[in-house]
Amino acid sequence: MTESPFVRDLLARYTIWQPIEDVGLLPGEILLSFDDGPNQVADTTSRLLDALKTENVPAAFCVCGKCVREAPHLVRRMQAEGHLLVNHGNQHLPLTLFSEAALQQEIQGCDAALAGAVQDPGFCASAFRPACGWWTPAVKTIVDRLNRRVLPITDFGNDTSITRHNYATWVDRTRRAAQRDRGGIFVLHDRRLRFWGESHYDVTNPDTSAYRGWVPEAISTLIRQCRSDGFIFLDPATWIERLATAR
Ligand SMILES: [Zn+2]
Repeated sequence: MTESPFVRDLLARYTIWQPIEDVGLLPGEILLSFDDGPNQVADTTSRLLDALKTENVPAAFCVCGKCVREAPHLVRRMQAEGHLLVNHGNQHLPLTLFSEAALQQEIQGCDAALAGAVQDPGFCASAFRPACGWWTPAVKTIVDRLNRRVLPITDFGNDTSITRHNYATWVDRTRRAAQRDRGGIFVLHDRRLRFWGESHYDVTNPDTSAYRGWVPEAISTLIRQCRSDGFIFLDPATWIERLATAR
């Protein structure tokens, strides 16, 4: 981050961006997270899982309840292949982040979808990532009440505006952020949910940023480049355990 201390303070207070020293990573560690999926268009999420398997990298999948119900088999595969399932709300509605009751429903709705997908009625995601990355007073209250962790990020990669034509810019930016901070928690969207005009854009048009079919190639490239820089990829389950022990 190159912003002023004032802007950094605002970001840390009201968004999931947190400075690298506050996110529970050791120098040289990277944690990868994928938001808004699963996504069956262009087999994006299944090819992403293939890529992570090839590279032997466990990641955090911040999935949305309504998308989980569309593709529960992909959620079962995430779990079976050692990835962390993170609750990203049921409907991905940012305004619910301002109401404790509505937010609690959002989280519990996504948990119910996850429990159905993994066929475990008692399933409860240990981490939550709020829609749009907003960290409101209601998020703080409900996350504490439900005993969850918020999964932060250390760099806003702005990948939702990236297309298959320019994803190398996202890879370069993220690699530079890792070098600058000696690691990081990064986000890439394997699906792109919006809270308005969802029906007015074409997720299958490969020339728009709504199309995410390039994500598997981008992440393979980033992983190889960061490994050549000496980074290791932290298992999100280890991250959760480390934070629980530090409590
Ligand atoms: Zn999201």
